[in-house]
Amino acid sequence: AKKLGRNNFQFYTPAMNEESLERVRIESALRNALERNEFVLHYQPQVDLKTGQIVGMEALIRWKHPELGMVPPTRFIGVAEDTGLIVPIGAWVMRTACAQNKAWQDAGLGNLRVAVNLSARQFSAAELLPGIEQVLAETGLEPSCLELELTESLFMSDVTPAVDLLHRMKSLGVKLSIDDFGTGYSSFSYLSRFPIDVLKIDRSFVNDITHDANDAAIVASIITLAHNLRLSVIAEGVETAEQLDYLRQQGCDEMQGYYFSRPLPAQDFEQLLRQRRGL
Ligand code: C2E
Ligand code: CA
Ligand code: CA
Ligand code: CA
Repeated sequence: AKKLGRNNFQFYTPAMNEESLERVRIESALRNALERNEFVLHYQPQVDLKTGQIVGMEALIRWKHPELGMVPPTRFIGVAEDTGLIVPIGAWVMRTACAQNKAWQDAGLGNLRVAVNLSARQFSAAELLPGIEQVLAETGLEPSCLELELTESLFMSDVTPAVDLLHRMKSLGVKLSIDDFGTGYSSFSYLSRFPIDVLKIDRSFVNDITHDANDAAIVASIITLAHNLRLSVIAEGVETAEQLDYLRQQGCDEMQGYYFSRPLPAQDFEQLLRQRRGL
């Protein structure tokens, strides 16, 4: 067999090697992506189940890569989190989403709320709170029209934000929601300790509500739990009329999902708003 050279350590299987190479490639490309303006936000409508009106939208990032095309967040958010690049990227998302929402409001398209995803990593950055304040001041967006989506895992992680920090965020007037609710550890203690406004039922439960009695029971229970805590509740991943019927019947407040609309580029979302207002 051929002897390996001194620097030719083979620690990695070819598959792992490819994966880590891929991460390194993504990392260096991510570093340039902000400057080159390669990120875009898509917006997915959130609909009030009583009125049928669009009341808000979730901003979801995509990377418009010059060669790879539209890269979904699942391919790069992890690397962005590991490298800390999520901090400047997250700041860009917040600024862009707030500015866009304000522009739509100024155009008479309604007083919608925009939801932005926050990574745990952003909570360890000192600039989070002043950053939010600055974006609100610069864009002139009403604080209550900004919602920050946190995941349950944040409350079990080693960067669990101080209750104090979340209270200070709340006192700015922004809304706080728990994303992917029900997928984390089933400790509910944070629900009473942190000033949350909204629970988002994870789509893995919503998926099966019409086929799986257990998922249906879980969804009904989350809705009751939310309402007993005076929280509002939104179901994500709604794909069928049957799911929607069940959610409405159980008193769910809002829904988001392909059944109503996929996440849309800003132009298409604006078109949708205009159509629905008869503009
Ligand atoms: P998420 O926050 O749970 O966002 C919802 C995801 O579900 C989105 O995927 C959305 O396109 C998808 N979705 C919505 N409705 C349906 C449906 O009816 N059926 C199915 N099968 N899927 C539906 P997307 O846009 O690929 O985002 C994936 C994840 O990437 C997000 O999950 C979020 O965790 C993360 N992400 C996206 N944008 C950002 C961001 O700006 N910052 C951070 N930190 N994370 C982000
Ligand atoms: Ca989310
Ligand atoms: Ca979610
Ligand atoms: Ca199931």
